[in-house]
Amino acid sequence: MRTKMVAGNWKMNKTLQEGVALATELKEALKQQTPKCEVVIATPFIHLASVAQVIEGSPIRLAAENCADKAQGAYTGEVSAAMVRSTGAEYCIIGHSERRAYYHEDYSILREKVLLALENGLKPIFCIGEVKEEREANIHEQVVKDQLEGSVFNLTAEQFAQVTLAYEPVWAIGTGLTATPAQAQEMHAFIRKTVAEKYGAQVADDTTILYGGSCNAKNAAELFANPDVDGGLIGGASLKAPDFCTIIAAR
Ligand code: PEP
Repeated sequence: MRTKMVAGNWKMNKTLQEGVALATELKEALKQQTPKCEVVIATPFIHLASVAQVIEGSPIRLAAENCADKAQGAYTGEVSAAMVRSTGAEYCIIGHSERRAYYHEDYSILREKVLLALENGLKPIFCIGEVKEEREANIHEQVVKDQLEGSVFNLTAEQFAQVTLAYEPVWAIGTGLTATPAQAQEMHAFIRKTVAEKYGAQVADDTTILYGGSCNAKNAAELFANPDVDGGLIGGASLKAPDFCTIIAAR
């Protein structure tokens, strides 16, 4: 049985005090509502250690939104996978489309990040997805296949088993344009088939594939009702505890 998951991606939002308050509110809310899935919050680096203390003893797991593509050393301003792990974080988002687009993270950089995350005991939440022009050109399947081959299909099956995939059509992120449940299911099934071709049916069946892109309290249930949609990676709607809790309850 693969893990069902709802993960929040706070992006570059919330001061440290606001982030601690949001994590506290979420922890309190989840005392009234036992989650039926893994609940993860991905916070900015500077929040990690404090939020780790807040959520201790709760069902909430912690993620970073990124990590460096180098192990350690003279890389001013970077934060390594080992540093992330030392805060208590268990997951790390890698390959988010905003990192690919604004910080030019290409396949080989992301390959290094995934390997370093795994070497340091972090489970990657690896994001893939096409931009609008690629969908219009009907090459969206090839795009996500290339992204998988470029950065995670170098892994052994044992390593790949630690990876959660997040299908995030870039045209749906932060735009209010959600993929339809049918579009999401079609792509998730394609991704699972692609994983099966590489690692076999059992690994593919065990792979958690999240949907991300304007998933919110209103549309989560119909997206999660699809057999290959194992949960969501939630941006904007994870910044409000009641909305995030409704999404968790939908899974
Ligand atoms: C994301 O950033 O991963 C995301 C899915 O954002 P949003 O939910 O705001 O579209």
